[in-house]
Amino acid sequence: MRVDVLTIFPEYLDPLGLSLVGKARRDGRLDVRVHDLRAWALDRHRSVDDSPAGGGAGMVMRPDVWGRALDDVLPAPEADSAGPVLLVPTPSGRALTQSLAAELAREPHLVIACGRYEGIDSRVAEHYGATGKARVLEVSIGDYVLNGGEAAALVLVEAVARLLPGVLGNPDSLVQESHGVDGLLEGPVYTRPVSWRGLDIPVVLLSGNHGEIARWARDRAIERTAGRRPDLIAGLDVAGLDRADRSVLASLGWVEVAGRLVRFAVREAGPADVDRLVAFAADTFRDACPPGTAEADIRAHVVRHLSRESWFERVGSPERNLVIVAESAAGLLGYVLAVLPAYPEEPPADPDVASAVPERPAAELSKCYVRADLRGKGLASALVEATHAELATRRVASRPVAAVWLGTNESNRRARRCYARLGYLPVGRRRFRVGSTEHSDVVMSRPLGELP
Ligand code: SAM
Repeated sequence: MRVDVLTIFPEYLDPLGLSLVGKARRDGRLDVRVHDLRAWALDRHRSVDDSPAGGGAGMVMRPDVWGRALDDVLPAPEADSAGPVLLVPTPSGRALTQSLAAELAREPHLVIACGRYEGIDSRVAEHYGATGKARVLEVSIGDYVLNGGEAAALVLVEAVARLLPGVLGNPDSLVQESHGVDGLLEGPVYTRPVSWRGLDIPVVLLSGNHGEIARWARDRAIERTAGRRPDLIAGLDVAGLDRADRSVLASLGWVEVAGRLVRFAVREAGPADVDRLVAFAADTFRDACPPGTAEADIRAHVVRHLSRESWFERVGSPERNLVIVAESAAGLLGYVLAVLPAYPEEPPADPDVASAVPERPAAELSKCYVRADLRGKGLASALVEATHAELATRRVASRPVAAVWLGTNESNRRARRCYARLGYLPVGRRRFRVGSTEHSDVVMSRPLGELP
């Protein structure tokens, strides 16, 4: 690749003789030529600027000087070549990103025109764009203002040159770094000593288990990106996400809705949520009924257990009921209802459950529903984990909750697997009816306050 840089401060570009870029030049992979713009100034003072048309502060770089310089530096147009890319650094340009750097790395010839003062007369970019002598790209290296384009030129050359074949000693370095193909920032990195000033390298990195290390690194990358650059999470390609990714994302408040990651919040519901809960609970109950459930039974269940009154009662009695909702800007995405006993020793009402779950006080994870299109995306886990965290703060007559139990339809293996991941173990069975249909549930429970 050839790069021509035009500047009034050629020495500013001296660092391009150092490090990997310098080596690439010496190896002949990169041909950098720095030109002093003043060589094309004609007057005694070799001036390159003049006062701005229309008045105002500062000076503007003259088009005639730039025109002579660029006419000399740009090669004559060839029929089968699009010509070089003329990069004009400016804070008002297109943002330099890793993908733009990768595009530029495929070009054989870049010319960088470093502005100073208030910038270069706008006709320069206009003219060279129109004549076909070059493809003009005004480019910004960030949302701040520098004194001149030289620092931007250094950034451009370094960002592009390290992508040229053979420039980095280990090309794998390019695979797992920030702004790479996976769209994530890189997570934290460590080296010896293992312990430094009381801070240890995370144990997994010393395990030698490459699968676990890769998973750990990806989880940290997702966490860091969500914390620092939520815009990058919103732009992730969901096709590249596996189940573990989705569950980390959900624990950080992101879930895929219609092919895009959207933010959701998990919080306790209040009276203002009742109307939405009524509609949502009826819809999700219907969606979750096993095929063949009679319509009349569904309706009767909704009227009896999911009425407006019942929801008002639940959100109005936090000592007995905990309603947690997940919502995005688009509305409710899911909810959990957990029921606490009235007194510590109160057993679960069903005797089969009471004997399968001996711990007291025992809370019931009574309902956990997510929108049908959001199943299997980690949202239910995020809701259940938020419920555990909240239940751990609750007391039944000053006793902490000892266990949480739930019943899940025995045909629903997906739900059982999900609860198993959340620390629940099957402990028994129970039967219950929705109208005339008898259901058999697997009863699962987990101690509270312990990690799954
Ligand atoms: N008046 C210009 C404006 O407000 O957009 C700023 C001119 S700046 C003081 C002088 C020169 O620094 C620019 O012509 C450009 O070459 C360079 N420069 C400043 N900030 C830059 C940035 N964020 N990215 C790229 N080049 C920048």
